[in-house]
Amino acid sequence: MKITDIELGMLRVPLKTPFKTALRTVETVEDIVVMVRTDSGNTGYGEAPATAVITGDTHGSIIEAINTFIKPRLIGEDISNLNRICGLIQTSMERNTSAKAAVEIAIYDLWAQLHGAPLYQMLGGGDPVITTDITISVDYIDKMVADSLSALDRGFESLKIKVGKDIGLDIERVKAIHAAVEGRALLRLDANQGWTAKQAVYAMNVLENAGVVLELLEQPVKAADIAGMKYVTERVNTPVMADESVFSPHQVFDLIQQGAADIINIKLMKTGGISNAIKIADIASLYGVPCMIGCMLESSISVAAAVHLGVAKSGAISKVDLDGPSLSQFNPVVGGVIFNESEISITDAPGLGIIEVRGLEMIKP
Ligand code: MG
Repeated sequence: MKITDIELGMLRVPLKTPFKTALRTVETVEDIVVMVRTDSGNTGYGEAPATAVITGDTHGSIIEAINTFIKPRLIGEDISNLNRICGLIQTSMERNTSAKAAVEIAIYDLWAQLHGAPLYQMLGGGDPVITTDITISVDYIDKMVADSLSALDRGFESLKIKVGKDIGLDIERVKAIHAAVEGRALLRLDANQGWTAKQAVYAMNVLENAGVVLELLEQPVKAADIAGMKYVTERVNTPVMADESVFSPHQVFDLIQQGAADIINIKLMKTGGISNAIKIADIASLYGVPCMIGCMLESSISVAAAVHLGVAKSGAISKVDLDGPSLSQFNPVVGGVIFNESEISITDAPGLGIIEVRGLEMIKP
């Protein structure tokens, strides 16, 4: 099975409700879809969103990175040489992690198709059912409470609450949601870099003293502020999770050795795909540090890859935040992983199991 071509398309899927964090507001999933064609007729699918304020990747940069730097290296390569191909992708250029992730996902899809097995089995197997949380966007308190209660009605048992806008209001937001859900859901707090270290310690002290139990606090401070993250981790009881601060396996080593965070959030768009995500899960588990598998605003192509990885690495990845498909108005993918609100399950189809992606606008090379 040799690579003959790499084609790109644009996928647009409107969200049910605008996605609002301390960093941005998004109303539509708009992702680049990668189709890696082979001489056997098999196609591997991958996907990447533009997340300029997090990874630096834009639609234009993803298209350019793939067409000019990655694709020429891969034409003619044999899918059976998975590690070699991943090396070619990862060394094609610095950064550009989302472009690398999109192509790597498609290559892993093909590699599992070559062996006639679902990807999670090729990655070591596991129980092919996982449960995800759902994001509650930062908004007026009443709206956040209503969104939280509606998520409970839909069967979600973990809520990821977005804060990081105004420290006083953030504390009120969390207290109101905590009171409204009455212990019926685990609460995860994501500040998306919106607080200073001292604000984070203050907010968590107020919440902890008010009896608000949170499962974790995610990325309270700026991505580059590892000292600030360590300051918070040392001073609050709630476990602190690093998201925007950790992209690569090297950064995970540093963060763990400095004791700067208690949990690592792995996202394929930050790691540059599956090969580095596996390394991070393995590093974290060596140190007994738990991981979350997360996603950007992605559809059920790249999120499917994250699901396969999460299942296969469930010993290291104990928390799941793969709500991209549940936030979307419809699922554009035929076949593949089944997203049913909080419950996600994998079929026994080879690779990612994707048969077709509806509504793709092809991008001219
Ligand atoms: Mg986050």
